[in-house]
Amino acid sequence: MNDSALHVAVVGSGPAGFYAAAALLGSDLDIEVDLIERLPTPWGLVRLGVAPDHPNIKAVSRAFEKTAANPGFRFFGNVEVGRDVTHEELSRLYDAVLYSVGAQTDRALGIPGEELPGSWAATEFVAWYNGHPDFQHLAFDLSGERAVVIGNGNVALDVARMLALTPAELAVTDTTDAAIEAIAGAGIREILVVGRRGPVQAAWTPVEVGELGELEGADVVVDPADLELGAASEAELAAAPPTVRRNIEHLRDYAAWKPAGKPRTIRLLFLSSPVAILGDERVEGVELVRNELVDGRAVATDERQTVDAGIVFRSVGYRGVALTGLPFDERAGTIPNTGGRVEPGLYCAGWIKRGPSGVIGTNKKDATETVQLLLDDARAGLLRPRSGDSLEELLADRGVDAVLYVGWEAIDASERAAGEPHGRPRVKLATWEELLAAARATSKAK
Ligand code: FAD
Repeated sequence: MNDSALHVAVVGSGPAGFYAAAALLGSDLDIEVDLIERLPTPWGLVRLGVAPDHPNIKAVSRAFEKTAANPGFRFFGNVEVGRDVTHEELSRLYDAVLYSVGAQTDRALGIPGEELPGSWAATEFVAWYNGHPDFQHLAFDLSGERAVVIGNGNVALDVARMLALTPAELAVTDTTDAAIEAIAGAGIREILVVGRRGPVQAAWTPVEVGELGELEGADVVVDPADLELGAASEAELAAAPPTVRRNIEHLRDYAAWKPAGKPRTIRLLFLSSPVAILGDERVEGVELVRNELVDGRAVATDERQTVDAGIVFRSVGYRGVALTGLPFDERAGTIPNTGGRVEPGLYCAGWIKRGPSGVIGTNKKDATETVQLLLDDARAGLLRPRSGDSLEELLADRGVDAVLYVGWEAIDASERAAGEPHGRPRVKLATWEELLAAARATSKAK
């Protein structure tokens, strides 16, 4: 490392971490960045959240690879802040620390039965089919005829679509083999997506809604009555951005379609909330209440229905987790900050800064805004100079076996090589043992 440079630790290597690193390394100050990541693999939700049948979106990782090629960049995977190194230590070892740790858990519905076996957070299912090494032990029983997905965002649609993909559609993706096998062999006939408000208020985007109509193995069903919007929603639609109008156009097309008799059906149900997940030993159904919209809010009526369900996925939002030694806003699930500055020397970006919303690109503007404040503080002499040994020494003393960027490149090469003969982008290594073994197969250190 260059002693005269400013040393910045960025914690979390998802989009926000990489965009922050790029902005720091591209500034006119002499800066070196250590990107610290708890997993042996970088890219955060680009690798482990974005749906495997969206390879073009995952290709944003090429921009991250360019950042990693910068001589001032180092990657320390398999290093968890809070477990292997504390925030206090990082703030001593670096001139500034920037947290981009994302939102690591899910929001609860707060209804009876939520904890029954067969009731899952979408976060768990998404992490499982994407090969997150902490989630491979989970066993999803997809034998029931109906899966219920609660939520009206893009993640809910990802889950619904993944459940509906045919073996041929899955075969060309980097979905784990265990997930491909389970989805292909599932007994599911209907995937019911439940939104508490109406179609105008849904948070999904037109590409995802449009894709539902292109599935080989699933019809999409919308009740035309749900598209009779009422005066308030019509007015909201008239004033809404074009994306909302495109969503409604897609839904109108679906409402007019006659099902083609495909093996599975995705049914979109609006103005309904789960009040209980039912079952004795495990999920057997969901009790739903019909809502009406009052000033844009969903208000329960006394109209209830029960639907049978073999499995439930709760997709009502991700949530940030507090890190020891750092301030935390429990309500918002974020680190309290102003434009990404917590205090001079301590910053945040991405979902832990603004909450779990926005697409990958949103994090670029967001991280750049944070880095601008960090640079302002550096120029104003507000950063407390680092002191003490280096991170490598501290990790070596503790016996922490960090995965450096060459280690990740070895994982990457082995996964791509395994995928190539089958026309797949990669076959993911999905256990800690496999990932660490592949990373260790390299002896060179960057
Ligand atoms: P993350 O991507 O979550 O990265 C955080 C990183 O921090 C992770 O790698 C994590 O392991 C690491 N970390 C956490 N705690 C620690 C710690 N204590 N020490 C060290 N490291 C730590 N956007 C799109 O544009 N297109 C899509 O198709 C799309 N699909 C999505 C699908 C799903 C299921 C989800 C959840 C999101 C999707 N998004 C999509 C949104 C996009 O993924 C997010 O905007 C983005 O990933 C947020 O970036 P981030 O860097 O804040 O968090």
